[in-house]
Order: sequence, then structure tokens, then C-alpha cells
Amino acid sequence: MKKYDVIIVGAGAAGLSAALTLSEKLKVLVICKGEKQLCNSNLAQGGIAGVYNSPEDSPEFHKHDTFVAGGFENDPVTTDILVNEAKTDIHRLIEFGVDFDKKENGDYHRTLEGGHGKHRIFHNADATGHEIVVKLQAAVEKLPNVDFLDNALLCSIKKVNGGFVLDILKDEKFDTYCCQYAVLCTGGIGRVYEFTTNSSIATGDGIAFAYNMGARIKHLSYIQFHPTAFNNKNTRECFLISEAVRGEGAYLLNCNKERFMHNYDKRLELAPRDVVSHSIIFEAKRTGSDDFYIDISHKDSEFIRNRFPMIYSNLLKAGYDLTKDSVPIFPCQHYLMGGIDVDSSSQTSVDGLYACGECSHTGVHGNNRLASNSLLEALVFSRRAAEHINKRHFDESFSPVYEFVHDENASPIPKGLRTSIRAIMQKAYFVMPDVDALFPGFEKVKEIKELLERGKFLVNKDYVEARALATVAYIILKEAIAIASENAEITRSDVK
Ligand SMILES: Cc1cc2nc3c(=O)[nH]c(=O)nc-3n(C[C@H](O)[C@H](O)[C@H](O)COP(=O)(O)OP(=O)(O)OC[C@H]3O[C@@H](n4cnc5c(N)ncnc54)[C@H](O)[C@@H]3O)c2cc1C
Repeated sequence: MKKYDVIIVGAGAAGLSAALTLSEKLKVLVICKGEKQLCNSNLAQGGIAGVYNSPEDSPEFHKHDTFVAGGFENDPVTTDILVNEAKTDIHRLIEFGVDFDKKENGDYHRTLEGGHGKHRIFHNADATGHEIVVKLQAAVEKLPNVDFLDNALLCSIKKVNGGFVLDILKDEKFDTYCCQYAVLCTGGIGRVYEFTTNSSIATGDGIAFAYNMGARIKHLSYIQFHPTAFNNKNTRECFLISEAVRGEGAYLLNCNKERFMHNYDKRLELAPRDVVSHSIIFEAKRTGSDDFYIDISHKDSEFIRNRFPMIYSNLLKAGYDLTKDSVPIFPCQHYLMGGIDVDSSSQTSVDGLYACGECSHTGVHGNNRLASNSLLEALVFSRRAAEHINKRHFDESFSPVYEFVHDENASPIPKGLRTSIRAIMQKAYFVMPDVDALFPGFEKVKEIKELLERGKFLVNKDYVEARALATVAYIILKEAIAIASENAEITRSDVK
């Protein structure tokens, strides 16, 4: 058994920031299940929100905007931490070499996004996440105490006395690892939907592992649907047209190429994401058409090309010129506000288990995340997790005995299960719950989950991810049914 003090599962913003904060005296392993940069962090376009050296802004204003977007369901303690510690983590990023765009006078260019009352989003053109991941990965690779394994899939994690044992599949070979503290930074759940902006890693693995270890999971049905994904319904991974495009003045148009947001919210196109997504669905019902567009052609073409180089060139490849054309958009799954419930040091309800980033629920987002607050959450709370672990007791004698048993002759899982789960979720719980589809969807997902749990299937990536997808779909729909029942939309009480 390979022994580490701390194992971090996930190498996005959260996992990397945790590794960079852990004491160099600790022996640390970081794993990710795909290529090093395959994660949601790498896709982040808009930027990272935070008040850093801006006298005209304040953490209190940032907190206010976060609460308004979150429907005032935000946790006041963790939200205070988020907005007040933003300066620490933005400064750290700059020290790790992250190159945020600057104005001619040398000050940082801070952009505006929906729901923010001030310009406070630090960005690197429209590819901020990639810049952060590249620079943090380079810094982690220099750490002598940290081993990094890519294409290494966590297949199972068990709580044992004094720590955890983990079953990791790399190069078609299983190895058993142990650690005293484990940090889950496994990202979101987007792949439980047919249409999502999320990377292919977003199958909810960490949430399912934590749930099966008995950790408390909270608000898994608090899912954000981004209003402006490029509407190319032929691909599962939808290309995002960043909030910042609306922040820079883009209009949203209906099927008649008319602006419509004034009918739904006085903040118009700069209303928070949930409001804009809901408005699109209501407008689609009113007009009887799913055709919607984003249009920024009234702005200077050179400004658009310089400000959104990645979005501009990707759309051009798809046949749309952002400087001239109205571009088709529609909402799609984008972000998970809920997750593994943690305290302000990112500790879960299982002793020694931490969770950070999109797989966690810190409560900072309330029922709807304010744009660009998620990279910030990932960085602030993973740093805090690592600072907490640095102060904990480590037992030199920790040496658990555990054996994972695999039947290499077992059959692969039946085909089509993941497709069924995605179709159910798309129908039952997309932007707004479809009350008639919730209960039958839940029953079917429960059946799939039980099949995967009971059956003796070959343990591989397909199995681990399908089981995780079934588990998160089960929790989401169960919670959605409970909410609908409270609102007297569903009367069945036999949901187990
Ligand atoms: C298109 C897009 C644009 C976005 N834009 C912004 C933005 O502008 N600003 C902002 O704040 N947020 C943005 N977000 C959200 C933000 O990027 C994410 O919430 C955040 O980066 C999540 O970071 P993370 O470290 O928690 O997860 P991720 O970056 O997704 O990393 C998850 C890691 O877990 C690993 N993993 C998962 N399961 C396993 C397993 N079983 N075994 C081993 N490893 C595993 C993966 O391999 C990966 O390394 C955007 C998201 C998307 C999809």
C-alpha cells in the first residue's frame, strides 16, 4: 500500500491551491482522472471576482451582490470569508505568475458581469481559467513534497481508523493508497445533463463517494443554468458565451430579433443568471419559439476581437462573426451551488475528509451563484482546508490493512444507462422542475442506481462515472421532489 499524509483528488483550481498551501513537511499526492488540464477550471472564461486594491469598491458591496444573486440564502459567515479573503487569493495568483489584463495606466482591468454592481472581475482576456490552471500546475510541479498523477481514476475511498484507503486505477492497473487526510476537489456534475458547459470530468464522482461514506450532502438541486450557451444542439459540451459579453453591453434578442428582458427584470441583460435563464424560458413560452440570440454588433469590432479573442474565434469557426452577427444561444447546465456540506475550513461531516471547489457546499452561493465567484470560492476554501490540515495531528504509525477485491472477469455495465440518466434529468429538472416528470424520473434513476450498486460489474471508468451520475441524479431528484411537495405540487410521500 502506498502511503501519503494527504491525498488530494482533483487538479483544478481547488486541488492545485490546496497542494500549494499544504506544509512542505507533508507527503502529498494529487491525482486527476484525465489529462492534466481537463477540468472545469481550465474552461473558465470570464474571470475571478474580488476586491483587491480598488478603493471605489468594498467587500461589503461584493457581499451585497453575492446575497442578491443568491436569493439571500447565502451563509453569512462563509460569504464574509469569501469576500474578505479574496484579496489574499488574488494576490497569491499574481505571485504565482497569473497574468491578469491591465489598463494602459498599469492598473488591473476589472470587468463587469451580470449581478455585479461594480467592475471587480480580474481576467486574462476570455481565457482566465486556463491561465490560472497553467500557472498553478507549474508551481505545484516544483514542490518536492508533492507527487502528481494524471489519468489516475479514484475508484473507491473507504474510511478506516485514523484515515482513508483509496483504490486508484492508472494505466489499467489498480493500486491501493492510504492517507490520514483526504481532500475531494472533484468538480461538478454537468454530465448528468444532455447539454452542459462542463468538461467531461464533471460526473459528480467525489459527491457520490462522500455520500456513500455517509457525508452530509446539501442543496444538490441548486443547479445553475447559464443563459447564453452557444445553441449548437448537436454537441453535448456547449460552448459558453461568457457573462462578460453581456457585461460589455450585448443585447439578448428573441425569435423576432427584439430585446425582451425589459418585460422580466429592470436590470435587463445584466440580471443574475437564474433570472435571465428563467426569462428566456418564459419568453420561449410566450413566443412559441426556442430561438434566441446574443448581439454585441453595435460595439466597436476591434474592441470585441481584443476583449473576446477565444469566443470570437470559436464562433467564427462555427460560422458566426461576433462583430456582425446575432449569435444563437439557449440556457444549459453550467454550475452546481450545492454539494458535500462543509464548514468554513472545508471539513465535511466525516472526520478527516475535506471537500473544496465545485463539489463542495460552503453556502456562499445561496440558491444562485454570482458570476465569477466560483473560482474565488475554490481558491479561498481550498487554501483554508490546507491551512487547517497543516495544524492537525499526524500519526507516524498509521498503517491500515485493507484489500480491494476486483473480479477482472466481471461484465461491463449495460449500454445506455448514462444516456437514460441524462434524458431523465433534461426532462425532469432543466431550468425549472417539470413536476409531472420528477416522480417517474426519480423512480427510474433509483432503479439504475440500485442496479449499479448491486450488480457485480467490471470496475472501470464507465462504471465509476455511471454509478456517480446515478447517485447524484438520485439525490437531485429526491431533493427536487421534497421541495415540490413542500410547495404542494407533489403529494406522494413514499419517496425513499
Ligand atoms: C465553460 C465554463 C466557464 C466558467 N467560467 C467561470 C468564470 O469565468 N469564473 C468563475 O469563477 N467560474 C467559472 N466557471 C466555474 C468554475 O470554472 C468551476 O466552478 C471551478 O473551476 C471548479 O474548480 P474545481 O477545482 O472545483 O473543479 P475542476 O476544475 O472541474 O477540477 C476537478 C478535478 O477533479 C478530477 N476528478 C474528478 N473525479 C475524479 C476521480 N474519480 N478520480 C480522480 N480525479 C477526479 C478531475 O480530473 C479534475 O482534475 C466556469 C465553468 C465552465 C464549465
